[in-house]
Amino acid sequence: MQVLELALPFIWGMMIGSFMNVVVLRLPINSDIIFERSGCPKCRGKINWYDNIPILSFIILKGKCRNCEQPISWQYPLFELWHGFLALLIFNNWPSFDGLGWGIGLSHFFMASIFSAHILIDIKHQLLLDKLNLALLPFALVIVWFAGNWFDAAVGAIVGFSFPLLVTWVFYLLRGQIGLGGGDIKLFGILGLLFGIKGVLINLFTSCMLGSVITIVLMASGRVKRDQSIPFGPYILSTALIQLLLPEYFAQWQNFLIPY
Ligand SMILES: [Zn+2]
Repeated sequence: MQVLELALPFIWGMMIGSFMNVVVLRLPINSDIIFERSGCPKCRGKINWYDNIPILSFIILKGKCRNCEQPISWQYPLFELWHGFLALLIFNNWPSFDGLGWGIGLSHFFMASIFSAHILIDIKHQLLLDKLNLALLPFALVIVWFAGNWFDAAVGAIVGFSFPLLVTWVFYLLRGQIGLGGGDIKLFGILGLLFGIKGVLINLFTSCMLGSVITIVLMASGRVKRDQSIPFGPYILSTALIQLLLPEYFAQWQNFLIPY
């Protein structure tokens, strides 16, 4: 029973992860997500259903396409495993999986899943897609509706949207460069709704700090050039993942920054 209780959410999570692989691949290039059969990105050969089972097919095929024998990216099985892990974590963290608990737990899972897809797409294409930002909205509303504070959420959404917009505008006036893209600003609006005023401001501070430190390290090691534009979304979203999934740890960090 114990094993089944763990295996079911894990397998379910990996199945969603498999679908999210398709989203990450196709959404940025506006290709059909639901109705087009999966094809090998290298030889374009169609993939049979039995070669498309999360993790198992990757192992059986030894990481190579059955048709052209080109290697399949590790990103696919890793992203499936990550979703299995997310489902397990969330399933274990919601002791009250009755009635409301399901809605809140599933909303957490899908938000974490969309955050993760957002990270991969931003790294690859330097885009925070409006469609994904919009997809986050209903899950954020469910969480706020059942577990949050409406006033804090509403003010958080306004602050989350307008504060980065203001900073970007001032930065533009001073330097003639656009700091944050529109996608980042909309994402902050949604995070403000979800995490409230304090939560979104601390995300902004934390992700700026993370981004600066990692960028300095990458520049010092010669991996990125000074004038290269660097996506900021992955820092916002990794911080948001910790905020969403490990709120007790994030609260310690928040109390450390704002002790009152
Ligand atoms: Zn192939």
